Amino acid sequence: MAHIAIVGAGFSGAVLAQELGQAGHQIDVFDTRAHVAGNCHTERDADSGVMLHAYGPHIFHTSNQRVWDYIRRFGEFMPFVNRVKAITGGRVYSLPLNLLTINQFVGATFSPAQAEAYFAQVGERGSGEPANFEEQALHLMGRDLYAAFFEGYTAKQWGMPAAALPASILKRLPVRFNYDDNYYASQYQGIPREGYTAIVTRLLDLPSVTVHLGTRFTRALAAGYDHVFCSGPIDAWFGCDEGRLGYRTLDFVREDHVGDHQGNAVINYCDLSVPWTRISEHKHFAPWEQHAGTVVFKEYSRLCEEVDIPYYPIRLVAEKALLAHYVSRARLEPNVTFLGRLGTYRYIDMHVTIAEALEVAQRYGDTQAARKPMPSFVVDPLG
Ligand code: UDP
Repeated sequence: MAHIAIVGAGFSGAVLAQELGQAGHQIDVFDTRAHVAGNCHTERDADSGVMLHAYGPHIFHTSNQRVWDYIRRFGEFMPFVNRVKAITGGRVYSLPLNLLTINQFVGATFSPAQAEAYFAQVGERGSGEPANFEEQALHLMGRDLYAAFFEGYTAKQWGMPAAALPASILKRLPVRFNYDDNYYASQYQGIPREGYTAIVTRLLDLPSVTVHLGTRFTRALAAGYDHVFCSGPIDAWFGCDEGRLGYRTLDFVREDHVGDHQGNAVINYCDLSVPWTRISEHKHFAPWEQHAGTVVFKEYSRLCEEVDIPYYPIRLVAEKALLAHYVSRARLEPNVTFLGRLGTYRYIDMHVTIAEALEVAQRYGDTQAARKPMPSFVVDPLG
């Protein structure tokens, strides 16, 4: 059986550790932070008792039956539906764009068919396929809705105009011609009763798995292992010697209040004149709990500097070119496989991370059995 190092104790690393540990391998997991679960980390606030999502709101959602069945083996998920509100131009609306949003914004009483016809009428049709976020939005919903809900928020979130961003980012959000205000179109949705860190802790809880917190794994240590799985930043593996891949980071400004401060888990602030992007009130992520106090976080987005925590990969043309350099070098690294959001520099949700980690573990078993080399990537980061 192999001696394996896993870099990163987030969902990627923990699922891999669980799978490979169950398969009988000896595993060391390394994380630079003092806790497991990466950016999904949750902790109970000492003052209010509220379960805090330490690195911003994480709502688990998936349509992947295998992932949903798998993750619930490690902790109970409570029903939760993310119903986001958005403030723009001094009014509150429902997100994602749905019939209530459209009717309230336009001041109409459209039926689904009428709203669809309205979108067809206001949508700006260019000559070809929409080439970027802005063109995609203008094509879909026209200028007024785009300006109210997307233009300012996106400029704040990404630090650049929507015309500079790929259309794929907008495609994360559905537009609905009915009154369904569920932010996600996934079949399953929920939040772990005891938080994400409890789930990750259980994933890592095997006699053959040793977790080294507050410990940076370096490339020089790889020689001591049969294989390394790296879910840390791919550029950092090479000491960022060709430059740093660009990320957005987030600053959270905490406020403590009593009672119910904003009446909802998440409220987006779409106007460019408001500096934060959203405010989340974390006790509303656990509606099964009761707390007299409440904690809210104002969320500000900015460019990630070297000392900051990377959140959203920017992935524009320049970043992709730099990524291609690191990927080609990574392919030459013997016995190292990169995975996860940071390892592949992709904007992926928790359920995708888990599905891919399961796939990586499966592939490792298959290649071992066939005495073939394990690939550097199971998902192509450039694809
Ligand atoms: N977005 C927006 N206005 C909103 C919410 C989202 O313009 O009120 C855009 C923004 O560019 C964002 C993208 O849609 O980056 C995807 O939103 P999502 O809620 O999926 O972002 P996340 O929760 O991952 O930060």
